[in-house]
Amino acid sequence: MQNTDYMKLLVVEDNHALANDLSEFFTTNGFVTETAFNLTQAREKAFVYAYDLIILDLGLPDGSGLELIEDLKVRKSTAGILIVTARNALEEKVKGLELGADDYITKPFHKAELNARVKSILRRKKFGGNNLLEAGKISLNLLSMEVKVAGKTITLTRKEFDLLVYFLYNKNKVLTKESIVEHLWGDHADQSDSYDFIYNHIKNLRKKIISAGGESHILSVYGMGYKFSI
Ligand code: CA
Repeated sequence: MQNTDYMKLLVVEDNHALANDLSEFFTTNGFVTETAFNLTQAREKAFVYAYDLIILDLGLPDGSGLELIEDLKVRKSTAGILIVTARNALEEKVKGLELGADDYITKPFHKAELNARVKSILRRKKFGGNNLLEAGKISLNLLSMEVKVAGKTITLTRKEFDLLVYFLYNKNKVLTKESIVEHLWGDHADQSDSYDFIYNHIKNLRKKIISAGGESHILSVYGMGYKFSI
């Protein structure tokens, strides 16, 4: 686990079991975690303490999480905001991002995926607006999610994008299949007997990079996993 430097996290979620589960999960991962079960509690906490990140369920019993985003922006809060939306809540999600949320995740989600999103927001904030990851002819914008190879925009699926981000943060390191699966798919991975399915995602990602004029950076390391080599 990466060092989180005692990052402070607020989980706003009216489902008590889920809130407690997430709280326990992030505490185990080295965060200082607090919970709020409704909008009123969330306001009470978020206005008083400086959180590094707020995981914000939008559907709360006493209002919409969107209200909290507006309040925080008025107060010039620097907390990262990850909104949690129900499926088919496209308008809410768009509204949340417009108001200034950093990212979103759709229920139901896997904790490892949530964790990856949280880490990604914190990294973005830590690097002070440097949202560009670069390697060779590849440049990836974490905010706009645009990926260019040799100046040409390529279209990736969400999994391919997340995979590329993971590789770019771990250049020249061997990433085991297990760690890739855990990073991108979470608990879901337990249901699978082999991790061969990630090969297809890697193959497609590699193909897209190469056909846009990039190099074959992603190498198989026999018996171990994959390495983004540069
Ligand atoms: Ca809810």
